[in-house]
This record gives sequence, C-alpha cells and structure tokens, in this order.
Amino acid sequence: MGLTVLRLWRGNGAMSRKLGLILASSLVATMATQADLQFSFTYADLGSSTGFYDPTDGQARRDALTGAAAALGSYFPAYNTTIDLAISSTGLSGGTLATANSFYPNSPSTGFLRTLVQEKILHPAGGDPNLSQPDASLAFNFAYSWGYSDSVSGSSYDFKYVTMHELVHTLGFGSFISASGQGGYLRTPGLADVWTVFDQFLADSAAGTHKLITADFTFDSTAAQLTQNPGVFFVGPNALAANAGKGIPIYSPAAFAAGSSMSHTDDSTYTGVDRLLMNATVNTGQQTRTLSSYETAILTDLGYAMVPEPEAMACWTAAGLVGLLGWRRVRVRQSRRA
Ligand SMILES: [Zn+2]
Repeated sequence: MGLTVLRLWRGNGAMSRKLGLILASSLVATMATQADLQFSFTYADLGSSTGFYDPTDGQARRDALTGAAAALGSYFPAYNTTIDLAISSTGLSGGTLATANSFYPNSPSTGFLRTLVQEKILHPAGGDPNLSQPDASLAFNFAYSWGYSDSVSGSSYDFKYVTMHELVHTLGFGSFISASGQGGYLRTPGLADVWTVFDQFLADSAAGTHKLITADFTFDSTAAQLTQNPGVFFVGPNALAANAGKGIPIYSPAAFAAGSSMSHTDDSTYTGVDRLLMNATVNTGQQTRTLSSYETAILTDLGYAMVPEPEAMACWTAAGLVGLLGWRRVRVRQSRRA
C-alpha cells in the first residue's frame, strides 16, 4: 500500500502570465453547430516520443482523454462551446496522479471569480476571453500504472475517471480558501479578497446558516471549521435540495491539505460504493465514471444547466493503492490599471 504525495497548488510565472487577459469584444469565436460541451487539446508532448506520444501508449492515452472529455461533455448538452486545454505529462515517481490548472480572467480586486472555462461556457457572447491561449491545463503523471480502456485492472488507475475528475475542476469545482483563511490574492485574513464562485456556497455546518466568506468578501474566522473532517459544507440551493435540505460535506480533513481540502467532496463521508467522482483520492481499479446527483447539484449551483446521467456504471474492484487527485489554482494577480 502506498500513498502518493499531493503536489501543492502554486502559482508560477508562466501560468500567471496567462491571467489578466481582457475581453476582446471584436473577436467572437465562430463555431460549428455542436451537441454537448466540447473539449480540444493541445499536447505539449507533440513531436516527442514521450507521454501522450509514447510509441506504445500514446494513442491509447489520447483516445482515452478524448473519450473521457466526451463523456463529461454529454452532461452539458445546452452549450455550444469548445474548451481549449493544454495537456502535458510528467513521469515523476511519487507525484500527483494528475493536476488541473484553472486560469481566471482579468480579476477584480474583490469578489467571487469564475474560471476562464466557466466564463466561456456561461457567457459565450463575451467571445473567448483567452483568445488562442488555453482555457485551462491538465497534467498527467505516467510514472503510475494507468488503465486507458473501459476495463481497468485492479493494479492500475482509471485514466478516464481521473480525466473527468480534473475536467470538473476546470469547470469551477474548487476553492481559493487557504489553511489560514487567505483568498486568491493571499491578503491578510480578514481583508477582502477574491474567492471562487464555489467558495460563495461554503458554510461551516450542514444547515448552511454560517458562510465561510462574508458578503463583503472577507473570510469569517468565526466560521472557520476547515479541519473538522468534515467541517465544511456546500450549501447552494440546488445542493441543499439534492441532499434533503442539508449541505453536501466537503473534504476538510484534520490536517489541511492545500489543493485537496475545500476543493473536493468528502472522502470520509462518501466511502465504498458511495464514493464520488469529486472525492479527493482515488483507488486503483475501475471506478464509477459518473457524476452523482450531489455533484450535478453543485455544478448547477455554479451556474450550469445539467442533465442527469442516464445510467450508472458501477464496476468496483478491491481497493489498492490510493492516489490523490490534485487541483491547483493559479494564483490570481490584481489587474494592472492603465
Ligand atoms: Zn481533484
């Protein structure tokens, strides 16, 4: 048994430079008529013989990525949007299985932010806020044993499942709240900051009466139950309706795990056959590649029109290695003023 170590979410220069892009109203993407939300991929491995262009596994990896993206897109038939994703790979033993980076449009000084992906889907009239740049990025670690087919062995991680998980993060399923209560600009806790729309719906109890972020965009330290396992609940109206009036438990283990805490459904609540796609960890073996009614409700609260999954595909195997799934926010920076 082993436990992979989560690579913490950190901003970096290259990613930060992608931030702060302004809307260009003169450039409105023209897209063919489509059904479902679509994803397009730009591979950093193109031209190499590694990762997604590995001579042996590359084609299977690209096919699995495309298949998983189509599966997730089928939950969103209401949108004619193509999301541009930068795809890269690593081979670092002991790293995170996979990581999603979400980018954010030119950011206000305070408020609740949508990811670029979220903005592009929900407000297509604004064109493509990121122009030809990717809207988000995913990185996969091929040091692990992966299964790319629809029959994943008990010793491999389910690539399509992990892909769907990471793609859901890019849709805005993730928090900016740090262990100390800092937000996107890492301001002193207690000062107004930027947060995600997801954060807007986090509360310190299932009843949802006490939100973590106040109406003036400050972290409410009196509501800080970030390590009560679970002490944080998603309390949007659709989430409450989906969970008999109670908030949906969010991953908030006793040891705050940056990149995992606050940004996943709760692993201690949703266990065994009740595990959810957006739990913080994943076992080896075939997983259920579907969004539950809870995750659908959360995404609806984030602004999306959803359709429920017609049929669950439950193929559980014995638990093997547990891998952590990463979500890295890109640290936002304040927009420059001309
Ligand atoms: Zn994750």
